[in-house]
Amino acid sequence: MQTVAVIGGGISGLAAAYRLVTSGQDVEVVVLEASDHVGGIVRTEHVDGFTIDGGPDSFLSMKPRGIGLARELGLEDRLQWTNEANRGSFLYRKGALHPLPEGLTGLIPTKLAPMVKTPLVSPRGKARMALDFVLPPRMGDGDESLRAFISRRLGSEVFDNLIEPLMAGIYSGDGSQLSLAATFPQLRAGEKEHGGLIKGVLAGRKQQAMRAIGHQTQQGFVSFRAGMHELPDALKTVIETHGGVIKTGRRVARIDRLDDGRFVVAQDGENRAWSDLFDKVILAAPVRAQAELLQHLDADGARAMVEIPVASSAAILLGYRESTQARAPRNYGYLVPRIEQRPIKAVTWLSSKWDDRAPEGHFLVRGFIGRVGQQEVLQHSDDKLVGLVRQELLDVNAISGNPVVQRVYRLDEAMPQYTVGHLERVARLEAAMERVPGLAIAGNMLRGVGIPDIIAAGEAAADRLLRQEGHAGG
Ligand SMILES: Cc1cc2nc3c(=O)[nH]c(=O)nc-3n(C[C@H](O)[C@H](O)[C@H](O)COP(=O)(O)OP(=O)(O)OC[C@H]3O[C@@H](n4cnc5c(N)ncnc54)[C@H](O)[C@@H]3O)c2cc1C
Repeated sequence: MQTVAVIGGGISGLAAAYRLVTSGQDVEVVVLEASDHVGGIVRTEHVDGFTIDGGPDSFLSMKPRGIGLARELGLEDRLQWTNEANRGSFLYRKGALHPLPEGLTGLIPTKLAPMVKTPLVSPRGKARMALDFVLPPRMGDGDESLRAFISRRLGSEVFDNLIEPLMAGIYSGDGSQLSLAATFPQLRAGEKEHGGLIKGVLAGRKQQAMRAIGHQTQQGFVSFRAGMHELPDALKTVIETHGGVIKTGRRVARIDRLDDGRFVVAQDGENRAWSDLFDKVILAAPVRAQAELLQHLDADGARAMVEIPVASSAAILLGYRESTQARAPRNYGYLVPRIEQRPIKAVTWLSSKWDDRAPEGHFLVRGFIGRVGQQEVLQHSDDKLVGLVRQELLDVNAISGNPVVQRVYRLDEAMPQYTVGHLERVARLEAAMERVPGLAIAGNMLRGVGIPDIIAAGEAAADRLLRQEGHAGG
């Protein structure tokens, strides 16, 4: 019997534990979670008839392990797709909201007519974009920033006005720092293979559509009827049913490896401390905590982890009663480009995007605050953050009146930044795992931040340990 400690009970850690307990191998699994709940930044609250997701509100259906895991857990009937009747998103520019042009596939415009019509890009910017069809691909294989790449192919105006807010919606990051190779490698591959960015995306879209038909997969974003927490709840149930143990209120303070290859895992709880021995360990905590835990296991791994920058953000959720002054628009929401220099980066009309998120006669709104380079705004009090979102809603002439429910969720240092050179840091983390048998690293700091990616990363970490026989000394 092998004993495995999984450090962190967010989606990464739970996915790893799930894989271990359902592997059919003789493993004893203990998840050690610092807080009093599982799910990490996936948090759902039910307040006065509102279903409030304070972290992620959905995941991409195209990536296999999100939907795949939900199905394995018996959650197929619980999946909820976005409300098609209200489909559509907007972009804030110079005091007004403009529809996002249709056909933005994987960030890149692929339909001519909506791009010709949109006021979001000037005629000069549109002409520059068209050069993508004739400009030769870049020589050489080095990494470059997302902004450098898109500006090179489509022009900087298209990046700043259109692509930047879409990209920031995923990474909260600064496009002039984010690595193309670590975030959208398919764009560079498309450029190399097809000679241009738009041609590459069109070819990729065709292939994706063929695959989707083959798998009968609905496209787009998907959530759960009672909110995102259905996923960690179901994982917890299955892990425990298979004999796994989940201990909350256990912050892992330090991990050491003994000469015989086993790991000593020291933990703190409320007024107590524990120290347990395990054959193997999976690290699935957020990036800053992982860096500390790696310190006594592999110095270069710990350094690589420290070199990954992180961003914080806050989600402000406001529930309103519908009235003449307050009514949510019938679309999904809008994004605010960095060049507007506004504190709010996105507003989502959550109850227009998803059915049943608000009680009859009410609606639910979310404002996101905090991008890389504008983190100081997060030092404001909760009341001030609520005030900023309410002012934003007034400014776009959307909503006045008082909310009946308000919640502020702070997602501190929750988003690793895949800056230029990120893949080299990931390679160093992989080398650390090679040097320390029995250790595996999971989490959102590796090769994807989205929920399907981190499920895959958690499962890969479990598979890595399942392939290794015994502990190093055993
Ligand atoms: C604001 C925001 C919105 C997002 N929206 C989406 C979205 O809509 N769709 C999508 O697919 N992705 C989204 N993401 C990304 C995705 O939600 C995250 O990447 C993912 O949930 C991270 O999961 P995790 O398990 O790796 O980490 P976490 O959720 O951070 O879990 C780590 C766990 O480790 C615990 N822990 C920390 N230190 C210790 C310790 N020393 N000992 C023991 N336990 C410890 C923590 O308490 C926590 O429970 C979003 C991210 C952010 C920040």
